[in-house]
Amino acid sequence: MAAKNITVDIVIVGAGMVGLTLANLLAKQGKAIAIVDRSEVAAFKDHQQIESRVTAVSPGSQAIFEHVNAWSAMQAKRVSAFQHMHVWDEKGDSQIHFNANDLGRDNLGHIVENFVIQSSLHEVLQQQDKVEWLLPEHINKVIAFQDHAEVELDSGTVLSAKLVVGADGGRSTIRNLAEISYTEKSYQQTGLVALVESEHAHNNTAWQRFLSTGPLALLPINNGQEDNNVCSIVWSVSDDYADELMKLNEYEFADALTQASEMQLGNITLKSKCAAFPLISGQAERMVQARIALVGDAAHALHPLAGQGANLGFTDAAVLADVLQRSSTEWERDIGSLKVLRKYERARVGETKIMQSAMDAFVTAFGSSSGAMVSARNAALRTADSIQPVKKFFMKHAMGLSKSRPGYAR
Ligand SMILES: Cc1cc2nc3c(=O)[nH]c(=O)nc-3n(C[C@H](O)[C@H](O)[C@H](O)COP(=O)(O)OP(=O)(O)OC[C@H]3O[C@@H](n4cnc5c(N)ncnc54)[C@H](O)[C@@H]3O)c2cc1C
Repeated sequence: MAAKNITVDIVIVGAGMVGLTLANLLAKQGKAIAIVDRSEVAAFKDHQQIESRVTAVSPGSQAIFEHVNAWSAMQAKRVSAFQHMHVWDEKGDSQIHFNANDLGRDNLGHIVENFVIQSSLHEVLQQQDKVEWLLPEHINKVIAFQDHAEVELDSGTVLSAKLVVGADGGRSTIRNLAEISYTEKSYQQTGLVALVESEHAHNNTAWQRFLSTGPLALLPINNGQEDNNVCSIVWSVSDDYADELMKLNEYEFADALTQASEMQLGNITLKSKCAAFPLISGQAERMVQARIALVGDAAHALHPLAGQGANLGFTDAAVLADVLQRSSTEWERDIGSLKVLRKYERARVGETKIMQSAMDAFVTAFGSSSGAMVSARNAALRTADSIQPVKKFFMKHAMGLSKSRPGYAR
């Protein structure tokens, strides 16, 4: 790639699901943006096979995708609505069942392959003309000046902008170059992800069983048949147990999975290779500094048990886009100034910290086999299941439908 000097309003580093969501929102506002990623974004092909990495897209995140016309592009590929969620505990007899009807809605959310989300956002953004694509490219340096920032790429190209956004995931280079410290905690668990086929139909229900070895989620995928029985699993287990499971052949693995699911969907067979992800929680010391903002996993990483990590990132993108829009139109302020960026940070930091504490509490409470803890969590599940206002409160929050949601998520 020949070296160039490019001036835009905002540079976004990371063309993952969160970076591309932000890019679409900003492009729709008419801002000039440059997107840098170390990899190309692959195109979705006709008859593309189902991918095992999926996201439970909340209705709040769906509204953000609708706003930028990316939801219809996702629907045209493959999205799987789920109407129910069933959660139960390996020990004790309590369970909780969520039903979209209780909130007067058609569904609780959609299971969407990460590749469908990313490729659709990419497709839609390619129709915008004030977007510079720098893929694949590597970042060499970021320098923040008084009134702008410069990003120097390995190819020699220099990007100048009012603001640089790090949407480059858990190992964020922008966060490191900006010297923002990051606290990471390992859960000493591994998330095993695979596509499976079950003997019985999943009934458009997201199933989650809490085991003392960690939670198992079966996320329903609609493969266009009447009896849908394909699910993506996220099976969180201790690192040692993950090593044992990964050594099994596919039939032994499927057998262990069938037992772990308590045969809720009958016998299970594997439809894909199993991938393993280390499970960590991470939090950047701050989400912004002058000329720099972090979004998505670059700012915070969560245990996947509540399926909220990417949804938090989509909300970061919506809030940041809203703050930047108001900064340039209502307040007439420099969009990369610390004063403006702190408005974004203040709006996001509370929710991410609460979500992280909640995930830690869940992992501890549901990982314990002590009699007192088992009784307490069974009582908690029973109470939450029987008191409708409590249940509705949890549902609305998990679905990104709380009153405090940003404008783009309404
Ligand atoms: C097993 C598992 C299951 C999950 N399930 C769910 C779920 O159901 N729901 C949910 O909401 N969340 C879920 N999550 C969390 C979710 O996957 C992440 O929160 C989400 O992928 C983060 O997206 P991102 O765009 O911030 O980062 P990433 O997806 O990591 O994207 C980062 C992008 O930046 C690019 N990049 C990185 N470094 C550089 C660099 N130096 N220069 C240029 N480009 C760079 C990468 O190539 C990539 O394109 C799950 C996580 C795991 C591990």
